[in-house]
Amino acid sequence: MERDTMPVDVLLVGAGPANLACAYRLAQVLQEKGKLDEHVIMIVEKGREVGDHILSGAIMDPKAMSELFGDDWRAQGCPVDADVAEESVFTLTATKARKMAFIPPPLKNHGNVIVSLSHVVRWMKEKVEAFGDAIMIAEEQPAADVLLDGERVTGARLVDRGREKDGAEGAAFEPGADIEARITVLGEGSRGSLTKILVDKLGLGGTNPQVYGTGVKEIWDIPEGRVTAGTVWHTAGWPLPDTTYGGSWMYAMSDSRVSVGFVTALDGGDPGCDPFEIMQRWKTHPQLRTLLDGGTLVKSGSKTVPEGGWWSRPKSFGDGFLIVGDSGSLLNIARLKGIHTALRSGMIAGEVIAEALLADDTSAGVLERYEERLRASWVKDELWRVRNWRQIFSAKGFKKGKLFAGLAWALGGKILKDPVPIHDDAQSVSPGDASAGRDFKVEEGLTIDKVTGVFHAGSIHEENQPSHLLIADTDLCASRCAEEYGNPCERFCPAAVYEMVDGAMQINFSNCVHCKTCDIADPYGVITWTVPEDNGGPRYLGM
Ligand code: SF4
Repeated sequence: MERDTMPVDVLLVGAGPANLACAYRLAQVLQEKGKLDEHVIMIVEKGREVGDHILSGAIMDPKAMSELFGDDWRAQGCPVDADVAEESVFTLTATKARKMAFIPPPLKNHGNVIVSLSHVVRWMKEKVEAFGDAIMIAEEQPAADVLLDGERVTGARLVDRGREKDGAEGAAFEPGADIEARITVLGEGSRGSLTKILVDKLGLGGTNPQVYGTGVKEIWDIPEGRVTAGTVWHTAGWPLPDTTYGGSWMYAMSDSRVSVGFVTALDGGDPGCDPFEIMQRWKTHPQLRTLLDGGTLVKSGSKTVPEGGWWSRPKSFGDGFLIVGDSGSLLNIARLKGIHTALRSGMIAGEVIAEALLADDTSAGVLERYEERLRASWVKDELWRVRNWRQIFSAKGFKKGKLFAGLAWALGGKILKDPVPIHDDAQSVSPGDASAGRDFKVEEGLTIDKVTGVFHAGSIHEENQPSHLLIADTDLCASRCAEEYGNPCERFCPAAVYEMVDGAMQINFSNCVHCKTCDIADPYGVITWTVPEDNGGPRYLGM
């Protein structure tokens, strides 16, 4: 098959905060050296527009923004919804919300800001574009594979387009171009599909496997007078059992608009774990019911969160490549924050790439400086202190975990064993019947079903294309999986993509919101998420 090729100096896969920070800092350094015009930098983004596939809570620690853009980053136009004002942490039972007397140190948010990350990356895109033609931001360009020459990454292959539903080449078939790059930066976010391929092929996995939670978020407009802009709640407890890590948030973006969401860990063992339903149940708690009553759901969405932290980091560099941000497991789960670490990792990557280009050496020997400087930065300090956080909760359960993780935090991160091990999410699923005892009913005006959630995510895919969700053995769905687990994919997918119909698996791929839960939580490892060829997916602008 003849493919077009395009040579660039640097290819960044994914236009999230880490890669946009990388591109900005790289361009800045090259410009200072008078060398920007001699290099070609390209960002490829699978969404229709930058920000479309970006979903986060989000409270941002602004220190990395100041480091990247200067202390006046807000005056430069970066969109911020509110400064964090009053903050509270609650423990929930089914009927009560008990306010904690103090805020656990990792959850203190004084000085931080409430943002829509999709708006922030849109603004960052403009900052990057201000460097002119040396940087190309190519939207609607999903990267489907990594190009390798031995152990050297040599770029990425864009998705083939124009296949029919059955996979055959249609009349308008076009093979995806090969973008050949001297350095490729993987900043795809949580469970990046190219990062997964590369980690598997080159054996780059960390000390621990990565573990994830699935977050479900909604934005609501509510009557004024219930919260003030900047109010922050976090909750633990109901409706999760003690065996499952997770919790919720409510961030007041204004006096009448709130971001609410719930993150459920995927290693709780229950084959019927349904993060979307857990979010809906949580909304029926009296605390949330009172808040949302008479309000209007504006948007909804889901994504996974890489929770493993320091010991789950894949090797971050090699010949011709770097891995940044969430793809590199740099999220601080104790603080529920990863934007600042993603930005900082991107900045460090940008500086190291500039040095590599100027020295005309893109080997691992030079790119290793990224890892060295990450370890010398506050990113390491922050993540090192909570390096066993998530594993402790997994080992001890939520109630005891709070005590042990708090103790480990006070001791600088070390407790009993170091590192504390953890199991892969898929291996944690216990045999059982995923469909047993599910009795949740939608309550109009408060809770929604998954298809309504897809509508509010704005997610759509062209129907006449092959499914981008691959199941290696669909016979397994009707036989072993049905018997041993009761088809957990019908539960864990927040978008009702997987449906057993008359004993056979039906994949409603058009609903997919690209959260990646299925790629992680399927107990047999037969589901693979790949990029769709039509640039489909959610429309998360404002989320
Ligand atoms: Fe998420 Fe997979 Fe469902 Fe898509 S199909 S919404 S990636 S769980």
